[in-house]
Amino acid sequence: MAEKIKCLIIGSGPAGLTAAIYASRANLKPIVYEGTLPGGQLTMTSEIENFPGYPEGISGIEMMEDLKKQAKKFGTEIRYGAITDLDFSKYPFHLVVDNENRIEAESIIIATGASANYLGIESEKEFIGNGVSACAVCDGFFYRGKDVAVVGGGDTAAEDVLYLAGLCNQVYLIVRRDQLRASKIMQQKILQNDKIKIFWNNNVKKVLGNQDDGVTGILINNNKTNENNSLDINGLFLAIGHTPSTKLFQKYIEIDEENYIKTKPNSTQTNISGVFACGDVKDSVFQQAIVAAGSGCMAALEAEKFLLEKE
Ligand SMILES: Cc1cc2nc3c(=O)[nH]c(=O)nc-3n(C[C@H](O)[C@H](O)[C@H](O)COP(=O)(O)OP(=O)(O)OC[C@H]3O[C@@H](n4cnc5c(N)ncnc54)[C@H](O)[C@@H]3O)c2cc1C
Repeated sequence: MAEKIKCLIIGSGPAGLTAAIYASRANLKPIVYEGTLPGGQLTMTSEIENFPGYPEGISGIEMMEDLKKQAKKFGTEIRYGAITDLDFSKYPFHLVVDNENRIEAESIIIATGASANYLGIESEKEFIGNGVSACAVCDGFFYRGKDVAVVGGGDTAAEDVLYLAGLCNQVYLIVRRDQLRASKIMQQKILQNDKIKIFWNNNVKKVLGNQDDGVTGILINNNKTNENNSLDINGLFLAIGHTPSTKLFQKYIEIDEENYIKTKPNSTQTNISGVFACGDVKDSVFQQAIVAAGSGCMAALEAEKFLLEKE
């Protein structure tokens, strides 16, 4: 027999847990499945300084523990496990947890996030969170007055490099091709900025550093001339996109050209009535915890309204 759930929340990042706080206070008895990254992406970062309410900053793990406590206090049940299969053609919606347990949910809040893309080179892994970052707005402040590099050639890379030029001493932009895909205006701003130096046709071959100092440099290689260069830097910022966790839903839920879930304007409502999406999984633009939390609130309020109208 399948377990019956009124409000199922998939994901335990800031979006899912904020949805849980609102849904439990509205007596929807939400159940959260945490997935393989309990607490979400913030648990991968040591310090968060831009989430309102923490004037001294807070570690990602601690902040997510606070959110969990708050959600549990109002009756949310948080469970280990990931949703591995689903059928949204039936109502209540059918889902499978860990390829084993079947559940039926009257409403669903998808908060599965989007993971940052990394270069995939061996030396990068040991410095993630210790000099290698995929979020300039989150971590740039820690590199004030220092030398950093940004990897990428699109709009995000252009925004990141300009943002960091406002904080750092020297910013290198490492571009795989011989041109940027960013808008002409952004390109002009970059080319006119004395603090930014671009390395065209270059790939990062190795991240240099040690556990005490973090990143101390990178080795880059020109893919046209095969020339190698080493740059002394303290921070490496990756701006090579994100991969939203939407594969599981794509059979039923409409997604955009970048695989993010589409929702109605000013809403978290997907194309399926009773299924809502919040946080980074539907947001290719802002990707910040406070924005994710805000949309988690919206999703819970919309789920509540949906369930009320169904009764
Ligand atoms: C290194 C780093 C540092 C950052 N620093 C900051 C910062 O300082 N300030 C800031 O505002 N933002 C920061 N961000 C961005 C912030 O982490 C994200 O915007 C935010 O976490 C998005 O929240 P979310 O709830 O949408 O998704 P996520 O936090 O990505 O959570 C997704 C959740 O879904 C779960 N999940 C996925 N698939 C399934 C499944 N099939 N079944 C069940 N669960 C599933 C995962 O296990 C996870 O719990 C940072 C990001 C990174 C990577």
